Amino acid sequence: MAFKKLNSSKYMGELLKNYFASLFLDDGRPVAWCSSVGPVELLRAMGFKVFFPENHAAMIGSSKTAHEHIPSCVAKGYAPEICSYLTSDIGSFLDGFCALEKAFGYKELPRPSVIVYQTNQCLDVAEWFKWYGRYYKVPVFGVDSFRQLMSVDESAIGAIVHQLKNLADNLAPIAGKSLNMAALKESVAISKEGSIFWQKVLNAAAAHPAPLTFFDAITQMAPAVVMRGTKEGADYYKTLLSELDERVKSGVAAIDGEKVRLYWDGMPIWPKTRLLADFFAERGVNIVASTYANSWIFSALDPEKPLESMARASLELFIDRDEEYKSAYISRMVDFFGAQGIIFHDCRTCPNNSNNRYGLAERMKNKKIPTVTIQGDMNNSLLFNENQTVTILEAFLENIT
Ligand code: SF4
Repeated sequence: MAFKKLNSSKYMGELLKNYFASLFLDDGRPVAWCSSVGPVELLRAMGFKVFFPENHAAMIGSSKTAHEHIPSCVAKGYAPEICSYLTSDIGSFLDGFCALEKAFGYKELPRPSVIVYQTNQCLDVAEWFKWYGRYYKVPVFGVDSFRQLMSVDESAIGAIVHQLKNLADNLAPIAGKSLNMAALKESVAISKEGSIFWQKVLNAAAAHPAPLTFFDAITQMAPAVVMRGTKEGADYYKTLLSELDERVKSGVAAIDGEKVRLYWDGMPIWPKTRLLADFFAERGVNIVASTYANSWIFSALDPEKPLESMARASLELFIDRDEEYKSAYISRMVDFFGAQGIIFHDCRTCPNNSNNRYGLAERMKNKKIPTVTIQGDMNNSLLFNENQTVTILEAFLENIT
């Protein structure tokens, strides 16, 4: 069964091409590298061009070559069990492989003037980015965040705001200017707009039949990650939303004869995306929603309170929350999207995005939501057993239909 392409994808390809071209343009604007859910609005407000190493790592995963590069990083003393984004990205760098070459023609990553991360997602990202800081001999600034939050209170927000202000002071000599609050408000407003439309795009999958799949979402999310906080990125999702609305109005299903709707929790398995997309499509199964794609929705952003709302938005992310919050969130999502079950991806090198490890799957079963757990990895295909996974998924589908 064919995987139905979205027409907007062509426009997205052009947008991304232009965005990456801007990173390599010698226009005097410094390049900052930023973690995927880090303080990008601040960087854009201060005039930085922003590159996201995690996007590059995901491209390495999609290229199916990550496992070839991981040993080069391991040889430098990094354990094979840690984040395979880190190990494959540094490994490919050491091997002289750049995933931007095939996609956009660039043989190297855009050279950073500064590297910025926030530990709201994990600690591995700090070690990953510091490696590049040492290599390029550029400053690396971190925002130390919180995890396992039951609620996002003022003390946690205050601690992040304090660090964001320090970050702005540290960035000023590199940017050649201080943080201008009017520019930050504008940057937050644009980021908020992009987030709202990205959420609308994802929510379109609540329709029966759903006009998009998880596999569309993880492709279409590129502007939400890479162009977060840009007007062009926000506008893209208006175009995509129109296409999806048309599909809904005309009853066009992303998966012909949609029979089963599922929810995906955990990282994508980038080298096996096509295999899994075909597996589900052939069986009339649509994975209609995921925790992962939803992670780039920053509902709390508010241009009237730029720093506070950036702090709140960064802490309200699913990955920062405690198990109670996660259980309630996933139940809500399953309900909203009309999913009949959940696939948990136990991602071997990203415990931070593997939510099956502290009883969440069992709690879902107690709520009469069927679940299945598969083993894999976002980048390292050697940690994915195709036969075993197919057998597990087939048995699960047989049980719930
Ligand atoms: S959240 Fe997971 S995939 Fe992302 S950098 Fe951290 S360990 Fe790697």
